Amino acid sequence: MENQRQSIELADIFRSRATEFLQNNTLCPEQIKAFKSISSCRTSALGGHVDQCDNCGHVRPAYNSCRNRHCPKCQFIRKVKWVDKLAANLPPVKHFHVVFTIPAHLHRLFYLNQDKAYSLLFKAAGKALMQCAANQNFLGAQAGAVAILHTLPR
Ligand SMILES: [Zn+2]
Repeated sequence: MENQRQSIELADIFRSRATEFLQNNTLCPEQIKAFKSISSCRTSALGGHVDQCDNCGHVRPAYNSCRNRHCPKCQFIRKVKWVDKLAANLPPVKHFHVVFTIPAHLHRLFYLNQDKAYSLLFKAAGKALMQCAANQNFLGAQAGAVAILHTLPR
């Protein structure tokens, strides 16, 4: 997997729609920080530095990274390493991709109580998976799961 520049990046979309997006959405402080970090990542807004090759001395100017944990550019290598490590530890068994969604009328409740609500969601989802897998009418097996929270903008 290579970290090649995509034709359109998330930062490009953020920058092109920042005013409209920020006027029409209410973000918590952490979301605002992530939005600003991603928007300014590897631009003149964060300053720059010069990379130099230890062998040939070739120099390359580069803008600084935001290092925000939500930035897809900054977290690319970390994500690849995480996926590789996770894949290496998976037993050679069948697996399924299961998605649990939150009903729209609960979105605001989850947004306002993220820690508790997502904790309960993970517990409920895990329990549902284990109970279904253990049921002799389904798998009759002891299951395991890797759970990841995937959110969409409000
Ligand atoms: Zn970044």
